[in-house]
Amino acid sequence: MVVSEERGDSVEERLRVLFVTAEVTPFARTGGLGDMTAALSQVLSALGHDVRLVIPLYQTVRDGGFALTEVATDLSVPLVTGRRTARVWQGSFAGREGPADVPVYFIEQDDYFARPGLYGDETGDYADNAQRFVFFCRAALALAERLEWFPQVFHCHDWHTALVPAFLRFLPGLAARVSAAAALFTIHNLAYQGWFPAWAFGITGLPLSLFRVGGVEFFGLMNFMKAGLYYADQLSTVSPTYAQEICTPELGFGLDGVLRDRREVLTGILNGVDYQGWNPATDPALAAHYSAADLTGKAVCKRALLRTYEMPEDLAAPLVGLISRFVDQKGVDLVADAIDRLLTLGLRLVVLGSGEARYERRFAELGRRYPARVGVRLGFNDALAHQIQAGSDCLLMPSRYEPCGLTQLYSLRYGTIPTVRATGGLRDTVTPFDPASGQGTGFVFQEPRAEALVEAVGTARRVFADRQAWLRLMHNAMAQDFSWGQSATRYLDLYRRAIATR
Ligand code: ADP
Repeated sequence: MVVSEERGDSVEERLRVLFVTAEVTPFARTGGLGDMTAALSQVLSALGHDVRLVIPLYQTVRDGGFALTEVATDLSVPLVTGRRTARVWQGSFAGREGPADVPVYFIEQDDYFARPGLYGDETGDYADNAQRFVFFCRAALALAERLEWFPQVFHCHDWHTALVPAFLRFLPGLAARVSAAAALFTIHNLAYQGWFPAWAFGITGLPLSLFRVGGVEFFGLMNFMKAGLYYADQLSTVSPTYAQEICTPELGFGLDGVLRDRREVLTGILNGVDYQGWNPATDPALAAHYSAADLTGKAVCKRALLRTYEMPEDLAAPLVGLISRFVDQKGVDLVADAIDRLLTLGLRLVVLGSGEARYERRFAELGRRYPARVGVRLGFNDALAHQIQAGSDCLLMPSRYEPCGLTQLYSLRYGTIPTVRATGGLRDTVTPFDPASGQGTGFVFQEPRAEALVEAVGTARRVFADRQAWLRLMHNAMAQDFSWGQSATRYLDLYRRAIATR
């Protein structure tokens, strides 16, 4: 135990950690990854650690009206293809309680990042994603050297940043104080691995010997994710159940063997919730505020939500929300397949999502077919996501797999009862309601089939009809505490372990 001079109180050793990530809320976000990096970094900083983040300066950041200050005009990033320079900007999570001084660095390189999307556009992934994220990973290391701020741990998130652990070990020419750092690699979603043709290995600058099955090669392709899985000192993923599932062929996406090999350094740590940003008692996006002690505002939110969706203000019918990326993972097709049976139960559905065109078309069509009972908005709309959380009675998450899932955690706090499939983080965070004992927080089904979903929603419908039971359920849900405290401590343990074993 040492005393931190800056704070004057006793904290354990103050760690220096650089988060290298493709997403940070509110700057750039497509889902839970950005929420997690923003929340965890701020919690660790509040605990007294020197945590900073680096992300690309995307067009969305530029357009977002954030106050950024320039910290370097000419960061030199050596690449196989020659040096490139980047400007570096710094921002912070201003306007929030707690430490306002968690530095967020933005790497500006317009050839790579001045585009409408983070990873692609409506025609698919950007063709040069390998170049973009090789550059970004290399730039993160150059940044540490330039700032003369040497992290003890690079905390890397998902495939976009998975090269960093390999660079630390094997890239020639790195400053010794940079390459001495340890790496923690966190898997937020194993399905997205960063596969590229073999030429992409050539632009990494890594020794050719790493392009093998026991390295970054994957059936003749370059696989970014494997660099993180093999060369990070510690691995984590975002729930205990998902940590087990990814070691199996069913959910290992071809990398379960690698993960079994590294099982002793793989830890599942549940994501926490930023309850400052997700609190129905203070949420600025809502028509009215409410809490477990006084739920009257929730009915106001329900009415406002129905109005937003131009649906009849029928408060008696249960209103079910679906907020999701439209991809196979999320099982949104099960909801579409089940729609007639769900409507037979007398409920209303409000949908917010975007993603694969076939799902967007399908939901748009359902909205047109049942205008009074199915409301559909396509796109990414954070305020509306909050309004659905508050105004709905139930939330659907029928995921085929779910590393952690934050949406169901938000819904619990908003007293919006989740119906989820028993997988990954959903299994770890939602317990089936038992009317006899009054225990439980939601409804859970096992099989990824429309019938199983309908059955679970049918159970929810019956409980909903019993006002006392439903109130009990809402109180159980709202009392759940998935704040970051415990999980943050576990990340600190992993950092220390990574440093000790480097
Ligand atoms: P994932 O990261 O796999 O998409 P999570 O449940 O962990 O799933 O996190 C999803 C996050 O993205 C939540 O904060 C949710 O509110 C938000 N989100 C998802 N789709 C949309 C959308 N269409 N509009 C606004 N927010 C969305």
